[in-house]
Amino acid sequence: MRRFVPVLLLLAGCSNPEPQPANDPIPQNKPEPKPEPKPEPEPTPKVETRGKLEAADAPEQTRAVGLIEQVTGRKFKTRVPVYVFSQEELEAEVKSWGDYAPENILGFYKYDTKAMYLVPEAAGNKRAFGLRLHEGTHALQDQLYDLAKLHKAVTTQDEDNTVTALIEGQAVQVMIDALPDNPHVKRITEVKQPTDLSDDGAWLRVLYYAYGAVFVQNLKERDGYEAVDAAFKALPKSTEQILHPEKYPAELPDRVSLPAELPWPAGFKSEASTTTGEFSVLVAMHRAGVTDPAGAAAGWGGDVEVTARKGASWITLRVTTWDTREDAQEYYDAMQGAPSLRVSRWNSADGEDGRRVSLVLADADVDAAALEALTEALARATVEYHK
Ligand SMILES: [Zn+2]
Repeated sequence: MRRFVPVLLLLAGCSNPEPQPANDPIPQNKPEPKPEPKPEPEPTPKVETRGKLEAADAPEQTRAVGLIEQVTGRKFKTRVPVYVFSQEELEAEVKSWGDYAPENILGFYKYDTKAMYLVPEAAGNKRAFGLRLHEGTHALQDQLYDLAKLHKAVTTQDEDNTVTALIEGQAVQVMIDALPDNPHVKRITEVKQPTDLSDDGAWLRVLYYAYGAVFVQNLKERDGYEAVDAAFKALPKSTEQILHPEKYPAELPDRVSLPAELPWPAGFKSEASTTTGEFSVLVAMHRAGVTDPAGAAAGWGGDVEVTARKGASWITLRVTTWDTREDAQEYYDAMQGAPSLRVSRWNSADGEDGRRVSLVLADADVDAAALEALTEALARATVEYHK
């Protein structure tokens, strides 16, 4: 569970036609420390000890709040405190976040204090108002939907990315709707890939801010912000739906389950399995240099992935399912050049229709025979196809 929603320097590093727009938010996809057990329903917000509390009637904030309410058609339940941080206070704050230390933060919203934070020295005056709209939208989302609860409910990497894309997508879209004359803000949604394809964080920013906002625009076309509100109450289930909004809410991923027992080599300890989602496949297809990465990834049906470690050694098993045999083969072929790929099987199980690909990735130290045994075991993964 995340406790804050930082806004980074926007889409810096993305292949934006213009040098970047407004603010870029941005979380990394990393596991949070286990949340403390949540006690009572309405915990009192923690008191902030850093920064300067802005006057409760600050005109810029009043204007931002008014615009957010006008755009979304939803009212704040309480006024959101705004703290202004200096660069030094920001550094001290980020230190307290432990190993989660994003760069280029312009502002953020924290769940535990229910306050928003601006760093004007970092943001500059021109960006400050967009930042208020963006972080203010997170505050409204928290009051209406409980952001901590939304993050806590996810069970896979794919679901975590999906809910984050909805949250960030709405915050970007509110900026776009509230600042219709600002071309930079609008341009966020045109980004389809980062400049540096090897940068995982930059890819996630593209998913959250650009694809997320396009998803929200699609909801708006159905029924304005009523449809956005409804999506927070019936969350999209997969990045497949974020990338292809027309698949929300009807199309669900195939459910792929690993066998209960896997023959890990001695000493290897397995982590929890997860689903990585179509978005991770899109990134992989870009990195593999396929001609039409989005088209190739679109055939994704579902996946399951698990990693085991022993000291510095690691093994990752990944089973993906595909809408058609051709989609599966395209992915299988593209992944042959993947770094660390040790074993791959297309159409692995008896009587299968060719829609499954199993990959075993590992560092060079791991014994080949052990990897073969794991590959055999992957044939026993079960799949519940959704179409
Ligand atoms: Zn944000």
